[in-house]
Amino acid sequence: MRILVTGGAGFLGSNLCRRLLKEGHTVVCLDNLYTGRKENIQDLLNLQNFKFVEADIVNGIDLDEGFDWVFNLACPASPPAYQKDPLYTIMVNVIGVFNVCEFALKKGARVFHTSTSEVYGDPEVIPQNESYKGSVNTIGIRACYDEGKRCAETILSDYKRSKGLEIKIVRVFNTYGPYMSSDDGRVITNFVTQALKGEPITIYGDGSQTRSFCYVDDQIDAWMKFIQTDSTVTGPMNVGMPSEISVLDVAYLILKMTNSQSQIIFKNLPEDDPKRRLPDISFAKQELNWEPKVSLAEGLEKTMEYLKENLKVS
Ligand code: UDP
Repeated sequence: MRILVTGGAGFLGSNLCRRLLKEGHTVVCLDNLYTGRKENIQDLLNLQNFKFVEADIVNGIDLDEGFDWVFNLACPASPPAYQKDPLYTIMVNVIGVFNVCEFALKKGARVFHTSTSEVYGDPEVIPQNESYKGSVNTIGIRACYDEGKRCAETILSDYKRSKGLEIKIVRVFNTYGPYMSSDDGRVITNFVTQALKGEPITIYGDGSQTRSFCYVDDQIDAWMKFIQTDSTVTGPMNVGMPSEISVLDVAYLILKMTNSQSQIIFKNLPEDDPKRRLPDISFAKQELNWEPKVSLAEGLEKTMEYLKENLKVS
């Protein structure tokens, strides 16, 4: 297959490119390097079946070659990154997604779009299944991402309904692993970096809020199965780890695993920070015969190895 990966130099994007190349596909990675990093794909640049194009989906996609699949991952995804320029985040998810849909339609390609658990906002329902409509503060600081991603799902669904575009929508729950940027501001990268450097571990709020953490290889296994399903299976489909852990317990686990003497300090909880997040993955289990295999301890071990190498700390 010839495959376009937008946002292919980011954390998930670079892991996906590697997986697609391993399976023998030809990959074009398009990224504007807003949060993506050239170093994530450095070792792929001289491969024959890989090409990097520096471009922004907001400005349209201009590629002559044909494509079978388009994976749309382009979007700043960590809270500090998507809140840095909120209007741009909205544009990526609205104008950018229009451009992706038009491009895929022109090429006759199937679009695989990465949506997010953030479409559920600060959920009142635990666990969240795909029919839960969510609870998003439309005027809050997370809305540029949450509402942007919700609108993206709408755009894709209307392209399918009115123009027959083939779509797959995955709702990605918190995912971690190698090729995350140590300074992306997310909880796992922050805590691991702080623990390795002996700096204070910054808990926002009292740390009782929960997340569920899926290792990147598990996440991408699900995508590879989903992209190959019949065209009637469009999603949205939750993909994530179906077990919850509090932020405070993540800190304790990382402190223990790194043998770190770092202190724990408490900071203000950011506005609209979701209290609990837990996917119901029954739909993915049923359609894909998939569930995550890698435990948090096992995945953290591999992530730490990568971050250690990156931070050059012993
Ligand atoms: N968090 C924290 N300390 C940090 C970074 C994040 O306590 O240094 C908390 C954050 O407030 C949230 C959770 O960890 O409750 C997950 O944050 P992250 O930015 O990784 O992703 P989110 O799931 O909120 O999009």
